[in-house]
Amino acid sequence: MISSSPAPETGPLTCPSCAWPAPTVVSAHGSARYLRCVCGRWLIEHAGVLVAVAGGSAFDTVAGRR
Ligand SMILES: [Zn+2]
Repeated sequence: MISSSPAPETGPLTCPSCAWPAPTVVSAHGSARYLRCVCGRWLIEHAGVLVAVAGGSAFDTVAGRR
C-alpha cells in the first residue's frame, strides 16, 4: 500500500496586496526569508509562513487616491 502525502508547499508566497504569485526572494537568514513583490511591498516569511508585510504598495497608492 502506497501512502501519498503531498509535500508542504514552501515556494514563494502570494502577495497579500496584489496577489502576485511569485515575489522575488531577496535575502534569507535561517528560516526567515525576505521577498520583494512587483508592487513594491516587502514580505517577511518565517518557516514558510508570511509573518509581516512592509513598505508601500504602488497599487495601494492608486487605490488610496480615490
Ligand atoms: Zn504585491
